[in-house]
Amino acid sequence: MTDHTFNHNLEFASSDKIKMVQDRLLVAHIRFLADTSGFYQKQFTHMGIDVASITGLQDLKRLPLTSKPDLEQHSKDFLCVSQEEIVDICLTSGTTGRPTALMQTKSDLERLGYNEELSFLSTGITPRDKVMIAAAIDRCFMAGMAYFLGLLRIGATIIRAGSSSMPVLTNLVLEQKPTAIVGVPTLMLAIGRRLAEDGTDPGGLGVTRLVCIGEPVREQDFSLSSLGRKLEELWGAQVFGTYASTEMATTFCECPEHTGGHVHPDLILVEILDDNGQPVQPGTPGDVVVTPLGVRGMPLLRFRTGDVAVLHDQPCKCGRNSARLGSIMGRKSQLLKIRGTTVFPAAIFSALQEIPGVVNFYIEVRGQYALSDEVRVVAGVRDPDLTPFMLSEQISAKTRIKPEVVLADPDTVQARTLVQGKRKPVQFFDYRDKFDE
Ligand SMILES: [Zn+2]
Repeated sequence: MTDHTFNHNLEFASSDKIKMVQDRLLVAHIRFLADTSGFYQKQFTHMGIDVASITGLQDLKRLPLTSKPDLEQHSKDFLCVSQEEIVDICLTSGTTGRPTALMQTKSDLERLGYNEELSFLSTGITPRDKVMIAAAIDRCFMAGMAYFLGLLRIGATIIRAGSSSMPVLTNLVLEQKPTAIVGVPTLMLAIGRRLAEDGTDPGGLGVTRLVCIGEPVREQDFSLSSLGRKLEELWGAQVFGTYASTEMATTFCECPEHTGGHVHPDLILVEILDDNGQPVQPGTPGDVVVTPLGVRGMPLLRFRTGDVAVLHDQPCKCGRNSARLGSIMGRKSQLLKIRGTTVFPAAIFSALQEIPGVVNFYIEVRGQYALSDEVRVVAGVRDPDLTPFMLSEQISAKTRIKPEVVLADPDTVQARTLVQGKRKPVQFFDYRDKFDE
């Protein structure tokens, strides 16, 4: 049962051809859900949707949206295949809710491999490359396994370094000489710095590409963020941004033009919606809502990622006609409201990263019902000349908001941001009362 044939050239086809293929895949997707998904059968009945009337992308807006709580609370109802067909279990990262088990069939893993194959190919990786995966392949994470499957399809040499041991990572870089590394940017920065401390210039090791996962490395105008620039300078390598999640089982990866992550059109539909669930004007930020295509185990329809970004639909200079998703601006639930202006914590982080002498930082936010959130930025600094006023001015120049700034000892800040059980430092503490997500 699959209408899904992988088409490596679809991204280069005309937008009419892309739309035609997507229309057909959406129809097949809806039929599959109506035939097999307990969750969506109920939704379609409840909303009075005649499945036969769905003929293409224009009908997408009539279909129900799916939220993270839907998936967390009714995960068993999303399963569309028998237990026998399940070959792998992936846990969602659980950054906003509790982890959910997503059941994968063999064809889902093939699809995942194809997805990463397309992504790595668009960065220019070939069978001649040696690629180090600096991400976990165990603990039921989807990402590390997906990278492995994708690189296997390309035929590149794979170095499964994982992410947990710095000596393992630095030794593998020195001994196996990867030409590309895929990992979280802060980890790749730490590997490079460790090598430099030990007397090896990471820029001279032959690493040509850094494929960044988990955090954005570019600003909205596609220029590198402070973190992205540091990586590029340290490694002397091209930096590629990607965006993905376990639920969407699809990656948005930059091509060498570095103007957003390309949509793989036969693997996912992307909508950008406003607060009322309506499509935004092209080029306007909104909620990223995705419909992964061709998934068999636990397929989703119009899944609200909770992330905010802009979709760019003009053809890319690389020759692909598939749309591109700009850097994620932040999580919708984290949007800060300060005296009539709204800003994502990431924009404040980005401003802080630009200030020499600022070692680390976190943000606390309080308040509810008020027109303005109470935002406090705590920055760890070692430079005695830095003042809260100076930091506040720098943040204001980049974000148009002027939060309260408190200076602290970097060790105190670090103690606060290292939270047990979390993969990344926690830099945002939200004490506002909230009911969604
Ligand atoms: Zn491109």
